[in-house]
Amino acid sequence: MRALVKYAEGPGNMEIREVEEPSAGPGQVKIAIEKTGICGSDLHIYHSDIAIPVRPPVVTGHEFAGTICEVGEGVEGWKVGDRVVSETAYTYCGVCPACRSGFYNLCPERRTLGYWYNGAFAPFTVVPAARLHSLADHISFDEAALTEPLACITHAVIELTTIKPEDIVLLSGPGSVGLATLQVALAHGATVVVAGTNVDERRLKLAKELGAAHVVNVQKEPLADVLAKLTNGAGVDVVLECSGSERAVESGMLALKRRGRYTQIGLFGKPITFNFELVNYRELQVTGSLGSTYSSWEKALALMASGAVRTGPLISHRIPLKEWKSAFEMFEKKEGLKLLLDPHDA
Ligand SMILES: [Zn+2]
Ligand SMILES: [Zn+2]
Repeated sequence: MRALVKYAEGPGNMEIREVEEPSAGPGQVKIAIEKTGICGSDLHIYHSDIAIPVRPPVVTGHEFAGTICEVGEGVEGWKVGDRVVSETAYTYCGVCPACRSGFYNLCPERRTLGYWYNGAFAPFTVVPAARLHSLADHISFDEAALTEPLACITHAVIELTTIKPEDIVLLSGPGSVGLATLQVALAHGATVVVAGTNVDERRLKLAKELGAAHVVNVQKEPLADVLAKLTNGAGVDVVLECSGSERAVESGMLALKRRGRYTQIGLFGKPITFNFELVNYRELQVTGSLGSTYSSWEKALALMASGAVRTGPLISHRIPLKEWKSAFEMFEKKEGLKLLLDPHDA
């Protein structure tokens, strides 16, 4: 089969290669992949500037949905034809305190599909059956390819942040992650203000369509004025920072009320500078998030199944796998929103 392979460490070193089609070993299933999303971290694997362990040569891609086409020895509860998505934490130690508390996303031994194990920019992949979640019939494979990023979001927004129906939330960074985060906050009854910049004009429009109470282009309108009016000068209850831009951190903290809650979802990719003393003076509760857990996958799937979160409107392009390079470039230039690759056309 033809697959997108990171074949050596170092910048670039990625190409479509002919690789052996995998088969399901004991405890594993083989999945026929329908679509695979391009994630920011795929770009980082491409550039070799990511802190998560990568083991080349490896088939990349980890945000996917498909159908079981082979069941390995000893697997129970799954059969050929089942529609599924799979967690990406392929192996972890199972005995460290993080693992034993259910936070295997933080296991130092965690090794990931598409980084360490052959992933999903390919027509087939093999995963441990223990990582599967079943997909409701009415969720399309394209929509379901966004389950993995949505599970990271439900982990951050539901499991690590408290959002109450009366809360006013400031969300910065209306990319596909931001717009899914918006919908999760809305599902909890919050009033959400979405902030972006000139490059986000179209995304801000979509944020409004998806239910944001207000959208603000911070290059055209002073965010502080909008929020002061909305909160009678008290500040917002929660900040969900999805842009990973340095400036958004301090302006987010300044936007918060005393004892407000700040969650960092976007990654910066470099050390940043901001006034951390704001955390003292306002007694802010600050948290960050990494990856996803079993429970956050179930929450993501439930939100999609109920229609509370719609990932369909976040998909802007469906591109043949053979055009991966121009798709990666589009993603990097922030063209479009969520880009899916079709592994059947490589
Ligand atoms: Zn991802
Ligand atoms: Zn562990």
